[in-house]
Amino acid sequence: MNKLFDSVGEMTSKALSLKQAGDEILRLNETLEKHIAERTQQLETQNKELIRRLCELEQFTYTTNHDLQEPLRTLIQFTQLIKENYAGKLDEDGNKYIEFISKAAIRLRLVVVVLLEYSLLGKESIKTMFDCNKVIDAVLSDLDDAIKGSNAKITVQELPTIIAFETEMRLLLQNLISNAIKYQNKGNVPEINLSFEENNNEWLFQISDNGIGIDEKYKDKIFILFERLHKRSDFAGTGIGLARCKKVVELHGGRIWVESVPGTGSTFKFTIPKSRL
Ligand code: ADP
Repeated sequence: MNKLFDSVGEMTSKALSLKQAGDEILRLNETLEKHIAERTQQLETQNKELIRRLCELEQFTYTTNHDLQEPLRTLIQFTQLIKENYAGKLDEDGNKYIEFISKAAIRLRLVVVVLLEYSLLGKESIKTMFDCNKVIDAVLSDLDDAIKGSNAKITVQELPTIIAFETEMRLLLQNLISNAIKYQNKGNVPEINLSFEENNNEWLFQISDNGIGIDEKYKDKIFILFERLHKRSDFAGTGIGLARCKKVVELHGGRIWVESVPGTGSTFKFTIPKSRL
């Protein structure tokens, strides 16, 4: 009989501790849910603040550059006038200085125009559904001279229909393909391949080339505005192409990066998250 009482006692205390454990789990769950809700709220507030600051910064870039255009135009016009009206009247140093001012002003105007274009990129764009094959056909037709001039062999996989910013996507593909044609050793025939993979939530595009390649240490730097790895005399350019590509990809909420073996070639990869209209 005593044994029976003992067993019942044991079972009751086990049931009690099970209940306590269950209550504890429920309590922990509630605490966890509260923490998650608070953290989500904090992140949403930080996100809104970040977007507000970004808009402010873009507005500032736009206004500053817009306002800089007028004085720059005046500077260029008047240096031109000095060059024309004082030809032969200035000594060698005078001519040299005017030439420096003129070249610097023209370079500055290019920077201003590029920054303006960059800050406006994607503004008021609307996502649409389009066939990437049509976009790539238009890109290849725009690059016809460069393709024929270099004998580039370009292969393109049958591409998907996606929802994205069409004009910006065209710009992105155009920049990557024209770089793949341009950054080649002299005499090398460019071989370029464009392919894609469909993943769960995103499209992964890849553009590979057999060009000069990029050293590991510059893999991030090349996406910064005005960063170039070469002298203008070796490869023409302004250093805006890849920064523009990064902005386009990030407008879509995607990522862009490069994998490369110097001397062998590079593969630029970017993702475009799937979205709805
Ligand atoms: P730009 O071509 O006007 O210099 P980009 O922003 O397009 O500007 O490119 C930045 C730098 O990245 C280039 O100066 C070049 O050194 C490097 N780069 C870009 N694309 C390639 C490529 N396909 N192969 C090798 N280097 C590249």
